[in-house]
Amino acid sequence: MKICNPANGALITEIEADDAAAVAAKAQRARAAQPAWNAVPMAERKACIARFRDALAAQVDLLAETLTAEVGKPIRQSRNEILGVQIRLDFFLAQAERSIASETVFAEQGLTERITHEPLGMVANVSAWNYPYFVGSNVFVPALLTGNTVLYKPSEYATLTGLQITRLLHECGVPTDAFIVVPGGGQAGAALAEQRIDGLFFTGSHATGVRIAAALGPRMVKLQLELGGKDPTYVCEDAPVAAAAESLADGAMYNTGQSCCSVERIYVHERIHDEFVEAFVATVAGLRMGDPMDEATSIGPITRAQQLDVLESQVADALARGASLRLGGKRLPGPGNWFEPTVFSGVDHGMELMREESFGPIIGIQKVSGDAQAVALMNDTRYGLTAGVYSPDERRAKHVLAQVQAGSLYWNCCDRVSPRLPWSGCGDSGIGLTLSTYGIQTFTRPRAWHLRSA
Ligand code: NAD
Repeated sequence: MKICNPANGALITEIEADDAAAVAAKAQRARAAQPAWNAVPMAERKACIARFRDALAAQVDLLAETLTAEVGKPIRQSRNEILGVQIRLDFFLAQAERSIASETVFAEQGLTERITHEPLGMVANVSAWNYPYFVGSNVFVPALLTGNTVLYKPSEYATLTGLQITRLLHECGVPTDAFIVVPGGGQAGAALAEQRIDGLFFTGSHATGVRIAAALGPRMVKLQLELGGKDPTYVCEDAPVAAAAESLADGAMYNTGQSCCSVERIYVHERIHDEFVEAFVATVAGLRMGDPMDEATSIGPITRAQQLDVLESQVADALARGASLRLGGKRLPGPGNWFEPTVFSGVDHGMELMREESFGPIIGIQKVSGDAQAVALMNDTRYGLTAGVYSPDERRAKHVLAQVQAGSLYWNCCDRVSPRLPWSGCGDSGIGLTLSTYGIQTFTRPRAWHLRSA
């Protein structure tokens, strides 16, 4: 497997991907190790993760450089991600024990009813590249804390980061057979799904999610799919225009638009539409695109070269259907995978740009006449990850948001994930959830005890 730098196309290194036999051997090791890992007291499992937390901070510069080199994430954003993981780990460390504590739910006349939480067993984690620390640790940390062993397949676009994560977990005391990395691409992922696993936790595209669901369907394996989105935001006429434009420009362009919860559609009330578009374009035009290793860079390269074709096709389709291009619109010459930050107004739902996930620095802004039209358009999608409303009127914003099909709802904010809240999607954005106390319990099987004393 060639690991290349998306900013300049240079070969960083070559890594041997696991073939089916290697994956099967690793699955056997992880399964054999599970009872012993589950027997390790929770306090010791927590101590391993606490050391991992501290190691991330101690080595943040090295880890961020690796992430930026292979994924192209601007270096400040790489450090933000790695340090941001600490907040999630703190949450898991504080909540793990309580979330899976046994509970007596009934005790009368000699009859006791109890719930215990058992680990699923040996689970597979097939992960994405865009936030490898976040989306990986959302799965493997609570899985390990609750007594599961983990086969972890990082994305082939974030392999070196996956290997760093593995090294750190082992150095911090997680046994080498309790957490095993499976380097490789789609073939290694497919081989993983064929093993005797007790759960598969996937983050990635809808297309791959469908393939995995079809492969696991007949086998009754617990499956979680965290997939893509086409996340909408509605800016009401009473919203402060400059502040909303700044916040949404960040939400659309952060990580070069390659976030599952990037703002991908903006609906603006007709009374402030023109003013908003101007402010939004000015903000995006001010973002610096360039070498992702440069501290001043906000927009880096596109990680996967194939995505450039998707972005070009969305631009061509929008132009052919009469959208007005306000900024950018072009792929830049190589080396590396570069696409200009791009803003369209005058868009509608006949355009790919407003229907299919863009996963890049490109956004459409559509004028709406009021709340009812905004709700109808926000719901006109097969996805449902997040949705937002900008307005000073809390009652109105909540009323609009309550009508939108999405797992996370934002009032005057966007592109935000909290470890305290469940992260999930409706429709083609997936099934299951991570984060919150539910995202700890999801790695366990609740068991029902009916105990009669006589
Ligand atoms: P992808 O689907 O191309 O790859 C995801 C993972 O699946 C990779 O590790 C890949 O090697 C593996 N894979 C590919 N084919 C496979 C197969 N047949 N069987 C098993 N595994 C296989 O997605 P990506 O490009 O890595 O990630 C981008 C997508 O992920 C976007 O759609 C984004 O919205 C989504 N995403 C969602 C969330 C969320 O929390 N909902 C978070 C991050 C990313």
